[in-house]
Amino acid sequence: MRWACSVCGEEHEGLPLDWSYDSPSYWEGPRHEEDVLTADICSWTDDVGERSYFIRGVLHVPVPELNDSLRYGIWSSLSQQSFDRVLELWDAPARTEEPPYFGWLSNSLPGYPETLNLKTDVVTADLDLRPRIVLHDGDHPMIREQQEGITVDRLLDLVGPRLHEIALDR
Ligand SMILES: [Zn+2]
Repeated sequence: MRWACSVCGEEHEGLPLDWSYDSPSYWEGPRHEEDVLTADICSWTDDVGERSYFIRGVLHVPVPELNDSLRYGIWSSLSQQSFDRVLELWDAPARTEEPPYFGWLSNSLPGYPETLNLKTDVVTADLDLRPRIVLHDGDHPMIREQQEGITVDRLLDLVGPRLHEIALDR
């Protein structure tokens, strides 16, 4: 699909639908020996000695016109108890029977009012799949978009800035 880009005015080919973040917003690199960041989990100790725990999941925003979804690979915080449970069940097929874990969204997504600290359910998926991140009900636009989906026009509004932000980073 070719589409007219609102940022550069050119036409681009193909719509990126997977947008991922390598770490939670607050990650500044390991500063203590026990700080850890992998493709799936993150944990660190802050300056006052408090430890934070995060997991990477996928938040789907449906695009009904495309019969597809925009998929954000983003991070949610977890309690220590939930984090320990996730690690304990990492290789257990029965992990899908877990109730959702509570968390706080831990990335700032462009194109929305601040998304940090929206309440989430982290829903454990089958082995080898990242958990689904589902926002709690509320009146934030991103919550509405996750529940109701977005139009292709709205998707294009999000994609242009995203594409060029990535290009600038490289
Ligand atoms: Zn462009």
